[in-house]
Amino acid sequence: LGRRKNVTGVMAEQLPRDVIQLLKDFGELAEGLGYKAYAVGGFIRDLLLRRSNLDIDIVVEGDGIRFARAFAEKYGVRARCHKKFNTAVLIFPDGLKVDVATARLEYYQYPAALPVVQFGSLKMDLYRRDFTINTLAVALNPEEFGELIDFFGGQKDIKDKAVRVLHNLSFVEDPTRILRAVRFEQRFSFKVGKQTAGLMRNTVKMGLLSKLGGHRLFHELQQILMEEDPLPAIRRMGEFELLAAFHPSLRYDAHMQALFARVKEVISWYELSFLDEPLESWWVYFLVLFSRLSRKELKQVLDRLEIPLSRQERIVWTYNRVDHLLGTFFRLPDPRPSDIYRALQPFRPEELLFLMVQATCEDVRRIVSHYCHRYRHVQTELKGRDLKAMGFPPGPLYSRILNDLLDARLNGQVRSRAEELEFVKARWPVLEKASNGS
Ligand code: ATP
Repeated sequence: LGRRKNVTGVMAEQLPRDVIQLLKDFGELAEGLGYKAYAVGGFIRDLLLRRSNLDIDIVVEGDGIRFARAFAEKYGVRARCHKKFNTAVLIFPDGLKVDVATARLEYYQYPAALPVVQFGSLKMDLYRRDFTINTLAVALNPEEFGELIDFFGGQKDIKDKAVRVLHNLSFVEDPTRILRAVRFEQRFSFKVGKQTAGLMRNTVKMGLLSKLGGHRLFHELQQILMEEDPLPAIRRMGEFELLAAFHPSLRYDAHMQALFARVKEVISWYELSFLDEPLESWWVYFLVLFSRLSRKELKQVLDRLEIPLSRQERIVWTYNRVDHLLGTFFRLPDPRPSDIYRALQPFRPEELLFLMVQATCEDVRRIVSHYCHRYRHVQTELKGRDLKAMGFPPGPLYSRILNDLLDARLNGQVRSRAEELEFVKARWPVLEKASNGS
């Protein structure tokens, strides 16, 4: 291997000090156990690309579970172990997670044989990975801390901005890598290498994507839709004829491009307006991606992706509901705030954004925006216990009264607790008396 490059300088530039210390701690612990520890994979790739990434993956030449347990005990963190796979996750109090995998030291089969060379098991571990850019490792043991280990030309491919597989059967072994290749290519503005692109096309032609399990296909699609900007990857999927793996009639065209651009706009509007509200933005893209399929085609896609039936029903409900609202409700002039509330309240934020994307007229988007800003969180001041104190007998009547009251509140008919009390007394006087009398 010759002299290896040391990347402690880049680490000092790119990583928080406590992360570097953590890596050193891993190295020292490994040393004490007679193991070797390496930081590997996307973490190192991103280190060299100067992209922040604190998803740390450690490979241990030795017993990874014993290593994780020892670390957890020494530093008082939690270790979740998966015996079957010889892996563990270290969970730090601040939420940082470190994956620990085992590259078992392997010995020659016959008695008295010499153990495998020092890097035997690390190299094998890395050889199973998807692309050369993900095969870089950095040694953590004290004597060699920061040494970059590059068995498969990962550094050169990072420099060349190339996504390359390690061997010709890579995509046949695992066709999800085809989608991963597109994702990494577009994320980093790299290019899939010529030979790798050929292998991808062959694997697609062989129909191997259709052999993939639905869960895995769904997971890879989700990963793509979770990218900062999924549009380029979707376009590239179109070029590689990967969209057909989801449904033959799915295609990337100018309309899809326009819809995706709108998704991007509404997501950034929402995220800027409601900083603290969680949003699964990839779900908006998902809904848009399949929005132009017929119901029958949609069912085929959702079955293909092994989406649970309850979720399928919700998706179909969303499409139907959005169609209905755009076709009728939003055509009515001057809806009252309470009507808007009742129309939009059943939607999750992702579904509201989908509605905004589907809407062709600006008015609809303005109404949804109003709803999000002004109506969504409106509540009555009176609660069930107040109704009880007023003498109403507990029962389904409560929700009728409170709904009525909420409508009044939304429409500006009542603005305070006192006015709410007045409103209820005025509208439900008979009942009030009846219950008071009993
Ligand atoms: P991201 O930044 O998207 O998390 P990552 O490179 O960390 O990218 P993960 O999906 O978290 O990707 O996978 C961690 C590592 O496991 C990768 O670096 C890759 O080498 C390896 N890996 C993941 N999926 C596969 C696969 N299908 N085939 C081979 N190796 C894989």
